[in-house]
Amino acid sequence: MNRSDGKASVVTEEIASFTDNGILLKSGEELTADVIVTATGLNLRVLGDIRFEVDGQAIDFPSTFSYKAMMYSDVPNIVSTFGYINASWTLRSDLTAEYACRLINHMDTAGMRQCTPRLREEDRDMQALPWIENFSSGYIQRCTHLLPRQGNRTPWVNTQNYDLDRKMIRDGKIADDVLEFSNPVT
Ligand SMILES: Cc1cc2nc3c(=O)[nH]c(=O)nc-3n(C[C@H](O)[C@H](O)[C@H](O)COP(=O)(O)OP(=O)(O)OC[C@H]3O[C@@H](n4cnc5c(N)ncnc54)[C@H](O)[C@@H]3O)c2cc1C
Repeated sequence: MNRSDGKASVVTEEIASFTDNGILLKSGEELTADVIVTATGLNLRVLGDIRFEVDGQAIDFPSTFSYKAMMYSDVPNIVSTFGYINASWTLRSDLTAEYACRLINHMDTAGMRQCTPRLREEDRDMQALPWIENFSSGYIQRCTHLLPRQGNRTPWVNTQNYDLDRKMIRDGKIADDVLEFSNPVT
């Protein structure tokens, strides 16, 4: 069957709900259907849906602040990649990979096995903002409540700005007043 046979049609409307017989549109019209193939947007799995734990306690990522939009407050030894939504994804992936290498080299040199971003005293009352701002795509809107938060100051921001990220990530010192290094090699 194709559309030119007059046996198929296209309806452009908002879907309100499923019904016993098909789909109810916002207009009130009901479309009957034998089979429904849904394509109203994927549901993103945050950090691959992996259950991360620290000392047996599951990490609640929405309760954490992102450190340079790649590590998470009070979560040791994890770096994840999130690129740009307004430029090449890999531009930021490269900065992240480069930073991760510098971090590992620093830990090797210092003889430390653990690094953990910790909120500073002045960060404790920081407002928790969405992981990413001004991004209306459905697949992000649907999972924003599951994502880590960002703060309103360096280094807790997801700037989505290459110039600012270069300063924060590439030019920033590894040993700053936020990253805590612990668990020395004995
Ligand atoms: C800036 C940006 C860059 C990206 N870059 C890449 C990239 O380089 N590579 C890559 O692989 N992916 C990229 N993505 C992701 C990719 O666009 C999405 O993963 C993909 O579009 C998801 O497809 P989807 O069919 O699941 O959902 P969508 O493309 O979101 O389609 C869902 C459709 O369903 C409609 N809909 C939802 N609810 C209803 C309703 N109730 N009634 C009627 N219609 C409804 C929506 O209006 C929408 O048109 C990018 C996304 C963005 C925003």
